[in-house]
Amino acid sequence: MKTFESLSSFKEWRQSHLNKVGFVPTMGALHRGHLELVRRATMNGGPVVVSIVVNPTQFNAPQDMERYPRPLEQDLRLLEDAGVAAVLLPKPHEIYNDDYRYELSEKQDSNVLCGPTRPGHFNGVLTVVLKLFQIVRPTHAFFGEKDYQQLKLIEGMVNAFFLDVEIVPVPTVREADGLAMSSRNLLLTEDERKLAPKIYEALTTARNTNEARERLENAGFKVDYVEEHWGRRFAAAFLGRVRLIDNVAL
Ligand code: AMP
Repeated sequence: MKTFESLSSFKEWRQSHLNKVGFVPTMGALHRGHLELVRRATMNGGPVVVSIVVNPTQFNAPQDMERYPRPLEQDLRLLEDAGVAAVLLPKPHEIYNDDYRYELSEKQDSNVLCGPTRPGHFNGVLTVVLKLFQIVRPTHAFFGEKDYQQLKLIEGMVNAFFLDVEIVPVPTVREADGLAMSSRNLLLTEDERKLAPKIYEALTTARNTNEARERLENAGFKVDYVEEHWGRRFAAAFLGRVRLIDNVAL
């Protein structure tokens, strides 16, 4: 497995791999959810590229970005074992060579669900993914349904800008108790971790969104939203300082 910190050395590597290339963009702190994306990419054929970038433009609070876990050595071991060909580890200033002057925005699907409480978040995601697509030039890119709104926006971007990449959605990987795997789960206290699966439980068993919200509030969550869009039910809620999201097909 090759690791690249500089974009120019990655470019050289990319020039010698001309056919199928699979791509999994991440922010690191890898878990089985990320590894499922990598597995799907490997099964698809061709070398797999994984990027690890803790993207400053998609965080709403500087503390959230500072607290984001960064177990790089462990991540690299997991990726090597998973058969990844190349890991891209650029510093934000190399990706944002324009000094953050340019930004991609979307005017509809980014205004629902996580949009109102996370202003600018999806613009940050779309901008960094567009930049990474231009650098990696993948034929296929893999995104988790765990972040369904993000997946939808990326599919929309690919369509809107005629990008030559196939987006492959991957179902959410869960812990045995139903909690959707997330790098943020590491930040939960022991008690919060015990409560956390209630999000999935409420999404799957409540008769409607009001009932799901009520159940979560009664359990001690600070609920951001429970809503239905695109044939799915979505929730976002805080447990202490940690904001958890999840969604299920209706
Ligand atoms: P992140 O590192 O959180 O930006 O996530 C990188 C990619 O992994 C995104 O496409 C996520 O949707 C996906 N992902 C994160 N958690 C899961 C999960 N539990 N199951 C499936 N995909 C996931």
